[in-house]
Amino acid sequence: MSETYPAGPGRYPAAAPASQALFDRARALVPGGVNSPVRAFLAVGGTPRFMARGEGAWLFDADRRRYVDLVCSWGPLIHGHAHPAVVAAVQAAAVDGTSFGAPTEAEVELAAEIVARTPVEQVRLVNSGTEATMSAIRLARGFTGRSRIVKFAGCYHGHVDALLASAGSGVATLGLPDSPGVTGAAASETVVLPYNDVSAVEAVFAAQGSEIAAVITEAAPGNMGVVAPRDGFNQALARIAHAHGALLIIDEVMTGFRVSAGGWAGLDPVDADLYTFGKVMGGGLPAAAFGGRAEVMGRLAPAGPVYQAGTLSGNPLATAAGLASLRLADASTYQRLDETAATVGKLASDALAVAGVPHRLSYAGNMFSVFFTDADVHDYDTARTQDVAAFRAFFHAMLAGGVYLPPSSFESWFVSTALDDAALEQVAAALPVAAEAAAAAGHGG
Ligand SMILES: *Cc1c(COP(=O)(O)O)cnc(C)c1O
Repeated sequence: MSETYPAGPGRYPAAAPASQALFDRARALVPGGVNSPVRAFLAVGGTPRFMARGEGAWLFDADRRRYVDLVCSWGPLIHGHAHPAVVAAVQAAAVDGTSFGAPTEAEVELAAEIVARTPVEQVRLVNSGTEATMSAIRLARGFTGRSRIVKFAGCYHGHVDALLASAGSGVATLGLPDSPGVTGAAASETVVLPYNDVSAVEAVFAAQGSEIAAVITEAAPGNMGVVAPRDGFNQALARIAHAHGALLIIDEVMTGFRVSAGGWAGLDPVDADLYTFGKVMGGGLPAAAFGGRAEVMGRLAPAGPVYQAGTLSGNPLATAAGLASLRLADASTYQRLDETAATVGKLASDALAVAGVPHRLSYAGNMFSVFFTDADVHDYDTARTQDVAAFRAFFHAMLAGGVYLPPSSFESWFVSTALDDAALEQVAAALPVAAEAAAAAGHGG
């Protein structure tokens, strides 16, 4: 490779001329210049970096700068960028044709891999996590003959109309209320409760249990920052829902195949009815899934009457990338992800402590985030006590030091197995400067 990419703490200037030129062009052509809102850097300000290439732990931007990637495409890339086995699988699949609109052996293989690793008996492949949760909700409503859905504030389940109420991720990042364009009718069937609050769930079921089709929850929320479920919370949801004839939908789009071979269910089993998957199972291509007990999944067309379909569902390239990623992910993969997450989290927390920045390090398996607050974070309201100005300064100093963090304090940090010593050294070198910047910008500064 002939290009050179300087790196090191404080080495990159705030101005990023090539990214800026692309962003200026993009804003004329694409609303806000991006195809998914959180990419726009609105919460942190500045120019979003336009990426040119990824390799292992590293991202390379249009200005030929090199960053340690702690976003990993928002979770999918547990093996890092352009892993040779994943690239080879996609290349081999492409040579054989990119889409057939007919079933393939690889779809059977991917379904078998998911069923073997998770509690689901049957699975349907779709193209995005949004599609997975939307379809799971339709199926829960079709199965129960009821319409109401219970969700939790700060949980994000994709941009499904009925699930955008008090959602996390970009909705939290941008501080949006509920989105215009979601009709009152769609929103009125959604009950939003505080996360980790069993008595709120009991109360709503006592009042309207016979109308509730399902409770949907992130297996362990990562879209309001990382907020682990309290011990027994998911199990209580199953118990309460089932006592009233409702289903429990566990959204593992983020946690699935990332926090363990079997996702959050592999760490904290719960008797749920439906599960949704995405991100890691697509290996960086668009693939997602929902699955559950055969009795429930059997209501789905063409086996049953609940309609659900997709021109590109089970796409050969996405299926190949997903299968290659899952087959690479063995016990040593998860051990390494856990160790790396612990290392990066401790480096960040130690640097912030030295600089005197109030913060909380919060883990759910190997997903973690740093809350810039003193508060005990256990739900969306406590997550929002964060000092956003401190995070903003921290983020930009890390970027200048060659570390690409999620551009929002309401998002999980993600590690890959590709984070080697060189990458960790770059993170460690950037942190003290960033922690000082956070201290200077924070409430106390
Ligand atoms: C990312 C995510 C989704 C949405 O998936 P998309 O592929 O972006 O539509 C749904 N649920 C959770 C928990 C997620 O993290």
